[in-house]
Amino acid sequence: MRQKNFGALLLVLFLVAALALTGCQQAGEPAGEADEVAGEAREADVVVIGGGGAGLAAAVSAAENGAEVILLEKMTMLGGNTIRSGGYYNAVDPERQEPLGIEDSIDHHYQQTIEGGDNEGDPALVRILVENALDALHWLEDYGMEFTDKVVAIQGAMWERSHVPAESGGYGYIQTLEKAARDLGVEILLETKAEKLLTDEEGRVVGVKATGADGEELEFRARNGVVLASGGFGANVEMRVKYDPRLTESFPTTNHPGATGDGILMAQELEAGVTGMEHIQLLPLADPKSGSSQHKVVTEIQSTIMVNREGKRFVNEDNRRDVLSAAIMEQTDGICFVINDAREAPEYNNYGEKVEDLVEQGYVYKADTLEELAEIAGIDAEALVQTVKEFNEAVAKQSDSFGRKVWGNTIEVGPFYATPRCPSIHHTMGGLTINTETQVLKTDGTVIPGLYAAGEVTGGIHGTNRLGGNALADIIVFGRIAGRNAAQGL
Ligand SMILES: Cc1cc2nc3c(=O)[nH]c(=O)nc-3n(C[C@H](O)[C@H](O)[C@H](O)COP(=O)(O)OP(=O)(O)OC[C@H]3O[C@@H](n4cnc5c(N)ncnc54)[C@H](O)[C@@H]3O)c2cc1C
Repeated sequence: MRQKNFGALLLVLFLVAALALTGCQQAGEPAGEADEVAGEAREADVVVIGGGGAGLAAAVSAAENGAEVILLEKMTMLGGNTIRSGGYYNAVDPERQEPLGIEDSIDHHYQQTIEGGDNEGDPALVRILVENALDALHWLEDYGMEFTDKVVAIQGAMWERSHVPAESGGYGYIQTLEKAARDLGVEILLETKAEKLLTDEEGRVVGVKATGADGEELEFRARNGVVLASGGFGANVEMRVKYDPRLTESFPTTNHPGATGDGILMAQELEAGVTGMEHIQLLPLADPKSGSSQHKVVTEIQSTIMVNREGKRFVNEDNRRDVLSAAIMEQTDGICFVINDAREAPEYNNYGEKVEDLVEQGYVYKADTLEELAEIAGIDAEALVQTVKEFNEAVAKQSDSFGRKVWGNTIEVGPFYATPRCPSIHHTMGGLTINTETQVLKTDGTVIPGLYAAGEVTGGIHGTNRLGGNALADIIVFGRIAGRNAAQGL
């Protein structure tokens, strides 16, 4: 009797499930034959594409707002460019800045972001960025991420508002957000590459077609929304050359190989608009051998100078990244040397690399005197000594002929260090056009319902030139908004 009832119950459950599935498929039927896939469709409230900082922030935020979330990451690990970043995060933070004597304000951050991008950033998006950067940093802290009390100016940041995580580089962001996501029940699928956005008859984005690790076709249905957080296109040669013909294959990049602009291309199939695609940032101070942002002594600019092989300064070191890169490319061999003294040399740099190892491996030159340093690095010794003398005098006056505004220590305590650097493709400022709710807009300015985007996949925030340290604030601030809105199916 019991067995009979159990069998009947199973049948009823099967029929209910079959009906529910059929109903779902009808409600969110993807348009056209091309959207049909082999295999079973999975379903969640929100599907997030990309497991870097923006995607994880969106996933956590969506889950906080009650959504069931699936996150798709095409690589074998989470992290994207976020995990290989320097970790510097810009926010106006009186609690940390005031004890260090740093004057700052939200309006100052806003002004520098807008002007640093030649007034091409969308003022409304920039306002959201600067006004929410600190709250987003506190949100990360609430999930356990630790920041030091240091607030510095990294290259291209233009001001001392770059926060320094306790963990080296971008590791802390990913570790913190992955844990938060898993704790909140987010399902994370690695080696799962989103290929196509699925829409219903009304054009609402209702899912994603993807490829699994073994090449199998997969389908993910999103009841409330899809968040594109697939990063930029710095590693897609064809795409970057299309928008900036100078940036051919021979140009090095700091980016991870998965930064191929997939999200932009997928959304463009739905007539999404793009903004500022031609604005591709070069990191001025990358390693000439590998193009990487690693293998250096110091990232902060306060107490360093940049000199050319002739031993001369040639630019204001606290300038914008595009200005710095252009100036370096004009120097002999297209490189410069960052000079610092012993007081600015940590045992480990911000990527956790031991500086002494870098000296041994030939990435960094080190010597007890400036003359010796110049000799081993191939810099004009007499000129370098004179340049450092003049710089030290300028530190005392807090003024120099280059118009520098960010000052720290003099360069006078040996041993001294010289790190050769050159520009490398770093950040794609352009991307999908979004509104202040992170909804992706079509070329005609209308919203693509059900589709949200955050992070480097978007355009319109940083204008022609991103301030160093603004991207990590961007991905957390807008990732949170995208996750919340996708959860609510705005
Ligand atoms: C070396 C380096 C140092 C940096 N340092 C700093 C810094 O100190 N401060 C700062 O503010 N900014 C820094 N930046 C910039 C900043 O790190 C990035 O702009 C930011 O991390 C981008 O975050 P994101 O989440 O948008 O993209 P990402 O972190 O790149 O994540 C995107 C993810 O999406 C995945 N993906 C792509 N396509 C698909 C697909 N089709 N299906 C599924 N998954 C997909 C990618 O594999 C990747 O994991 C640095 C960048 C680099 C490269």
